[in-house]
Amino acid sequence: MFSSVLVANRGEIACRIFRTARKLGIRTIAVCSEADRGALFTRMADETRCIGPASPRESYLNGQAILAAARESGAEAIHPGYGFLSENPDFADSVIEAGLIWIGPRPEMIRAMGLKDEAKAIATRAGVPVVPGFQSADQDPQILAKAAEELGFPILIKALAGGGGRGIREVESADGFAEALASAQREASGAFGDARVLLEKRIVRPRHVEVQILGDHHGNVVHLFERDCSLQRRRQKVIEEAPAFGLPEALRANLLESALRIARAVGYQNAGTVEFVVAGDPVPERYYFLEMNTRLQVEHPVTECITGINLVEWQLRVAAGEPLGFLQTDITLRGHAIEARICAEDPDADFRPRIGRIRRFDIDLNPAEPGARLRLDHGFEAGDAVPGAYDSLVAKLIAFSPSGRAGAISALLAGLDSTAISGIGSTAGFLRNCLTSPGFTSGAVHTGLIGESLAVLTDRSHKRRKAAACCALDQWARMRNETAGFRVNLPAQNLWRAVDDSGEIAVEIRLGEAFIDGAAVSLPKTPPIFMAPGGALDIWLEGEGFRFSPMGALAEMDHALAGDVLKAPMPGKVAALRTHLGAEVRKGEVLIVFEAMKMELPLSAPRDGTVEFLDVETGIQRKEGDILLRLAELPMP
Ligand code: ADP
Ligand code: ADP
Ligand code: MG
Repeated sequence: MFSSVLVANRGEIACRIFRTARKLGIRTIAVCSEADRGALFTRMADETRCIGPASPRESYLNGQAILAAARESGAEAIHPGYGFLSENPDFADSVIEAGLIWIGPRPEMIRAMGLKDEAKAIATRAGVPVVPGFQSADQDPQILAKAAEELGFPILIKALAGGGGRGIREVESADGFAEALASAQREASGAFGDARVLLEKRIVRPRHVEVQILGDHHGNVVHLFERDCSLQRRRQKVIEEAPAFGLPEALRANLLESALRIARAVGYQNAGTVEFVVAGDPVPERYYFLEMNTRLQVEHPVTECITGINLVEWQLRVAAGEPLGFLQTDITLRGHAIEARICAEDPDADFRPRIGRIRRFDIDLNPAEPGARLRLDHGFEAGDAVPGAYDSLVAKLIAFSPSGRAGAISALLAGLDSTAISGIGSTAGFLRNCLTSPGFTSGAVHTGLIGESLAVLTDRSHKRRKAAACCALDQWARMRNETAGFRVNLPAQNLWRAVDDSGEIAVEIRLGEAFIDGAAVSLPKTPPIFMAPGGALDIWLEGEGFRFSPMGALAEMDHALAGDVLKAPMPGKVAALRTHLGAEVRKGEVLIVFEAMKMELPLSAPRDGTVEFLDVETGIQRKEGDILLRLAELPMP
């Protein structure tokens, strides 16, 4: 085994690789851009070198700078992570030419699989079904348009060199073809430096199922079962699980075998993933090869959970020349794992990245489920800034349950419910909604599921009501505690108002239970609640953050008890007077603001009437029950 490794990547994946390298006693070297100075992955590494400005082109995609850092730090091996240079065969070549160990498949394998048309040709030769489509060296728009017509719409236009869900366009009919083609080519040439495309029949409501492959330098290739990554938004993975739920056993066996056949056909080494789409609604019937990713995948942790095999460890061992320590038959599957990608985005604003400095980053990793485990692969901690130059992934929360899928879902839900992230956008609440959506819980997943119900999945209004109820209950409990010493009885029934940027929610509290519009609100036992600046309350509910203002969360004392008078509800002072002697007031109008226990309590008119008596000198300590204001008696009817 080599004794030092440089990770040519950043964020959570660099942290992930360092963790295992350290465990194996390997010295760790980070390279970072100027935007990532001081980032968590640089703090974890034994040594860090800054390789250039924030722009990926000048840093994480700058192979020469990375090689120079490797030379200067004496690194023996380079792990590329995912994205960036991980699937760049020229970089892999230059690493090897520099006499270093490349932790990945041989460059020619990356090259062969790097273009989607060549990869499909390899799969076809291996006897694996591919999505029906059209590919040709001639990229003449007219030829492509004609081929699209013959394939039959809807079709997908895909960049040959594409990845990460980019360079793909969906076309419903011949009308839209020319424009979609031009747009796909533009994106492809910008993002991948290669404008060429292929056409594919669009499979209706497919599932994305992929197979983890691991090969060594001694001719051994194994699979580590499959993952279902059907929950996607705009062809990018959101939630992934292993194993795939409800695949007919014969189809599953064929799919695993097909992946192995492709890997064997190219003599695959190191970790890789063979991706398929599975068609058939509601019962999966057919599968088609999509592409092979010649690198470690973002969602590799779910495979590690169900197989107990550390993929990064075996990437390092295999690269060092060790044979795989297990046979296919040694690899067994246990339980179920699900991963949720937490991104610094605003689901509310069409998932626009909202980056900045993380103020709070709390996730409770002790799930309620006995036997279940939660794992957090994160690239940031509270206090760290999330830079805008890179993708918005901040952490992956992974749940494992030995008892199966339902257990994994509830453990992940427990984790997301405990999540409190502030300072940046967060998709935690959206992820929670995905996990509880009927399509997901029933296992009837397909790649269009999120897109079809995006409005429901990004809806915050239910959680906001619950958060308002939490806020009122919290204030109520606080006041009860603080008044306990004065033996003041708070009315068992009272009305509170919680106000945030979106408005006001009235919450009634009866015997410690919250009601909104007369309906009881069921609340989690211990949602994260924190005092915010200015005395506001920050409440996290089901992954979503809310801030209710202090003025909003106020007790309105029971009017019925007061009758014609306003009394001091507890020991305190009059903070402000909002009326005057002789004023005509309406029921509910705030007349006096009372201050007690560092909280302001608005006292409002118990009924319509005229102010007859006032004893409201501000700043003087009042006893509970002191009469502050009286309304004139009502005229006899
Ligand atoms: P995974 O299947 O591992 O989740 P993704 O397709 O989501 O892979 O991509 C992982 C990361 O790599 C993302 O940050 C994505 O933007 C990036 N990525 C994937 N393919 C490419 C590529 N060809 N060029 C640049 N970045 C890529
Ligand atoms: P990338 O290299 O960007 O990951 P893929 O070929 O893997 O591109 O496709 C990305 C996603 O697009 C898939 O996970 C799947 O959801 C969807 N997709 C790709 N090809 C098809 C197809 N022929 N029909 C339906 N959906 C597809
Ligand atoms: Mg893909």
